[in-house]
Amino acid sequence: MKKHYPRGIHKAIADGIGADDLNIRLAALDDPEHGLSEETVNATDVLIWWGHCAHGEVKDEIVNRVHKRVLEGMGLIVLHSGHFSKIFKALMGTSCSLKWRVAGEKERLWNIEPSHPISQGIGEYFELPHVEMYGERFDIPQDGRIIFISWFEGGEIFRSGVAFERGHGKVFYFRPGHETYPIFYDKNVLKVLGNAVRWARPLIYLANTATNVKPLEVIHSQDPNNVSVGAGIAQNAKGNG
Ligand code: ZN
Repeated sequence: MKKHYPRGIHKAIADGIGADDLNIRLAALDDPEHGLSEETVNATDVLIWWGHCAHGEVKDEIVNRVHKRVLEGMGLIVLHSGHFSKIFKALMGTSCSLKWRVAGEKERLWNIEPSHPISQGIGEYFELPHVEMYGERFDIPQDGRIIFISWFEGGEIFRSGVAFERGHGKVFYFRPGHETYPIFYDKNVLKVLGNAVRWARPLIYLANTATNVKPLEVIHSQDPNNVSVGAGIAQNAKGNG
C-alpha cells in the first residue's frame, strides 16, 4: 500500500479530485474520534469513506453520528472494501457480502447510465489494467440505481457503481480501490469520484424528529379516553410511533 500511497489513500484522493469548488479535509481512524467530531461531521456536505481490515475498530458512536447526518442530508460515498464498513451495512440493512479474488486481472466498467450526473465525462466504458475482483452476488438492496457494471477478465460481473437515497441523504457505492494497485490515480476513477461528490452534495439539511402535533381542524370523532395532547390526534403519547 505504501508503494502506491506513501501519504495514504485519502491524500491521493484529495489531490486527485481537488478543485476550486471543493474544500477538502482529511480524517483517519487514528485521529481523535476518527477525525469525525460532531462539529466536523456537521460541517461536512459529502463524506468519502474507504476502509478495509479495521472496520471493527470504528466506534459505534461515530458510526451513529455519521448515519444520523446522512439521514439529515449529508452525502456519503463508500469505496471498495468499504462495502463491509459499519456505516454502509447500517444504511443498506443487508449483509453487503460479495465474492472476491486478488489476481491482478483486468476490469472493464460499463457505464449503463450515461445521462446520470455521476457518469458525465465517462465514455461507454473504461478499463483498469490490474484490480482485485469483486463478484456477484453483492448483497445490497434493490432500490439503488446501477450506474456501472463491471466485467472481470476471470469471468465474473459486479454492480460497481450504485446510487442510493437514504432519508434526505444520497449514498454512492463505487467498487474500485484495492490498496495494492494505483487505482486512485486513474483519471476515470477520479472523474467519477468528483462527479459523485457534486451529485451527493445536499441542497438542504432536515432534522428528523418525532413531533406530537395538534390537529389543524377540530376532530369530531376524538376518543376522549385516548388523547395525548390537548386536542391532539396522536395516539403515541411520546411521539415515538
Ligand atoms: Zn481490496
